[in-house]
Amino acid sequence: MDMPVLAAALPALGWAVHSGLLVRRLSSARRDPLTGLHTRAGFAARAERIISRSPNALTVLVDLDDFKAINDTHGHAAGDAVIAATASRLAAWCHQHGIAARLGGDEFAAIVTDPAATSGITTLTRALHRPVIHDGRLVPVSASAGFCHLADLPVRTLTDALAAADAAMYAAKGRGRRNNTPR
Ligand code: GH3
Ligand code: MG
Repeated sequence: MDMPVLAAALPALGWAVHSGLLVRRLSSARRDPLTGLHTRAGFAARAERIISRSPNALTVLVDLDDFKAINDTHGHAAGDAVIAATASRLAAWCHQHGIAARLGGDEFAAIVTDPAATSGITTLTRALHRPVIHDGRLVPVSASAGFCHLADLPVRTLTDALAAADAAMYAAKGRGRRNNTPR
């Protein structure tokens, strides 16, 4: 290639490299670095698609209970290990039937096309309560989960499904706390 042609091609090459890097950065922002799950942004579009095609879809919201105490008692790295374990338990439960996301902090969401295809809600709840081994020590884990069957909604939107699952999750958290309170 002669010099004038090369000089003309360089800016275009520069832009191609720049936009390639930008696309990679944007797609990695759609993945949570700690867990590898979708972020809220990455989850929304996919979840909308599942909702539009799957009348039996089930939306799940999970929030760890007293997670701050895990950080305080066992250290931040143990807290990270619990978040990573919760993420992989939720993702394993969804398997190929849906998607899971870390919405932020200790809050997660998932949507599956058909709950009958999964191992069931009880199995998920049990898995989310398994202790995590970190640095050779057993870290106890408790999580509250809320569920919303799309078919139960008058208007079948992701916003309404997440709101209903969120309300159910907070109700479960309240029940869990009351059950744990000594009488
Ligand atoms: P609740 O039972 O009401 O859900 O209370 P909680 O203690 O679980 O606390 P809450 O959900 O309100 O706050 C979550 C805490 O998670 C706050 C923050 O210190 C911690 N946190 C958020 N992101 C991370 C993270 O990436 N790693 C670790 N180790 N901690 C995090
Ligand atoms: Mg919490």
